[in-house]
Amino acid sequence: MSAETAIERLAQRLIPGAAVTVLTGSGVSAASGVPTFRGPEGLWRHFKPEELATPEAFARDPRLVWEWYDWRRQKIAACRPNRAHEVLALWATRYPRFSLVTQNVDGLHERAGVADLVRLHGSIWEVSCWNRCKGSPERWLDETVPFPTLPPTCRYCGGLIRPGVVWFGEPLDGDALARADRASSCDVFIAAGTSALVYPAAAFVPLARARGAFTVEVNPDDTPASGRVDLVIRLGAEVALDLVEARLQGTSTAAP
Ligand code: NAD
Ligand code: ZN
Repeated sequence: MSAETAIERLAQRLIPGAAVTVLTGSGVSAASGVPTFRGPEGLWRHFKPEELATPEAFARDPRLVWEWYDWRRQKIAACRPNRAHEVLALWATRYPRFSLVTQNVDGLHERAGVADLVRLHGSIWEVSCWNRCKGSPERWLDETVPFPTLPPTCRYCGGLIRPGVVWFGEPLDGDALARADRASSCDVFIAAGTSALVYPAAAFVPLARARGAFTVEVNPDDTPASGRVDLVIRLGAEVALDLVEARLQGTSTAAP
């Protein structure tokens, strides 16, 4: 199927009043300059993310792990939301039953204006006390870029703080999972920019489909989910969503 036909088929499903759920992964932020973990820029000083984004790595060398997060925070701070973030922010206001579920931690959906979203993996802009000290909230916002000294310390107990993200081997937040599960009951479910290799992305796409949703993958590359969705759009999310929105607005009939 041509990209033009695929865009048209998705646009036909996005009727006013449709319950629309979009699950986003790091590919949605790639065009903003935020590296994906599996892309060439995913490596930092020859470390794999799996070697840094774990509680064990932090316990062993909190400074090293914070150097990586501080570097990522600096990179992300210099990035801007792209057309994919903008279109999703538009849909969030247009469709009364719109849900955005993200695996991203970069805050670009929020910066594009999405007020309510499900963050499955937390936020790189939040921190929490490593010792879970009594005086501290579960997590709090800290947008200091860069931190003057690493590792940064807890303002409540003076001990270490950790990034407010879900690390490999850690459980996902139960409330976020429950909201994502509810959002998987919808009319149109779009998985954009995720390799769909890891839980829960891998689970939500078939779940939504089993519940009767029209499922769509937006990804320039083949993924394990590609054969299990109703429609594949083989384009970058920033291109695909822009074309769908243009078609919804009736301003374009051409896709590359
Ligand atoms: P991934 O790195 O496994 O997969 C990214 C996917 O995006 C790939 O399938 C790739 O083909 C696709 N992609 C690349 N460019 C794209 C584009 N322009 N448009 C659409 N798709 C594109 O990422 P993942 O599956 O999201 O898993 C890694 C985890 O690491 C995430 O869940 C997240 O928690 C974390 N992470 C977050 C960020 C971020 O917040 N921006 C960045 C890297 C990693
Ligand atoms: Zn503390």
